[in-house]
Amino acid sequence: KTQPFKGRVVLITGASSGIGRAAAKRYAEAGADVVLAARRLPQVEEAAREVTSLGVRALPVRCDVTQGEDVERLMRETEATFGALDVLVNNAGQGLYGPLEAISEEQLRQVFELNVFGLWRVTRAAMPLLRRRPGAQVVNVSSVLGHRGLPLLGGYCASKAAVNAMTESLRAELAAEGIRVLLVSPGLTESEFREHRLHAEGWRQDPIPLKAMSAEEVATAMVRASLRGRRDTVLTLPGRVMVLA
Ligand code: NDP
Repeated sequence: KTQPFKGRVVLITGASSGIGRAAAKRYAEAGADVVLAARRLPQVEEAAREVTSLGVRALPVRCDVTQGEDVERLMRETEATFGALDVLVNNAGQGLYGPLEAISEEQLRQVFELNVFGLWRVTRAAMPLLRRRPGAQVVNVSSVLGHRGLPLLGGYCASKAAVNAMTESLRAELAAEGIRVLLVSPGLTESEFREHRLHAEGWRQDPIPLKAMSAEEVATAMVRASLRGRRDTVLTLPGRVMVLA
């Protein structure tokens, strides 16, 4: 089996479940050593054991990306263990459901604090480690909802639209240094996303009979794009992976 990421180091936020956890496995299967970060340490450690069983090194770190000190410690531990970083996957994120009129200011702030500020904070802190490796990459996980404002999802759509804009700006800012910035925009995916999503008061959604793709399928599309090494935007929907160069 070929291991194109052998000797490379990938840091994934939100690696305790869903897409992040599946991505940790996929990158490890491709030979990468993986830093796994999230708040639930037992789950992060379990995911790290899965990764280690694939024959690569794993560093589990408890990290709340909304906390500056946690993020600084994450980078210090990454540096102490691996010395540098080849790929940063900004995956940690949370949903918010309900009309803009009904969501609370606190909920909207919480989602932006994680989806937007968290991604920005981790990226900024990772830059010195990424700069040590030629061909380093940042992979930002957005959503198909980041490309359109849908009803009942305005807070979430706005946060992911901000992710898209930051991705484009960062791409342009880092292009001259050869650091590539990718955007992965999954469609509905099976994960713990629904359980963790915030809801406006009185707005609980009935399960919708939409076809979802698996976190593994999204992770496969992510790692494939990462391997291509282009500054791609990848959209995934059940049965379809679209790459917008
Ligand atoms: P999950 O809820 O399964 O995963 C979310 C991850 O984020 C968990 O590992 C969680 O870990 C972590 N996380 C949450 N808050 C924080 C925090 N403050 N600091 C660090 N980590 C945190 O959902 P998904 O796997 O589906 O979500 C992954 C990404 O994919 C998100 O950005 C989401 O918006 C996006 N996405 C999901 C879609 C879907 O349909 N599922 C569709 C499109 C995009 P912990 O609680 O341990 O901290």
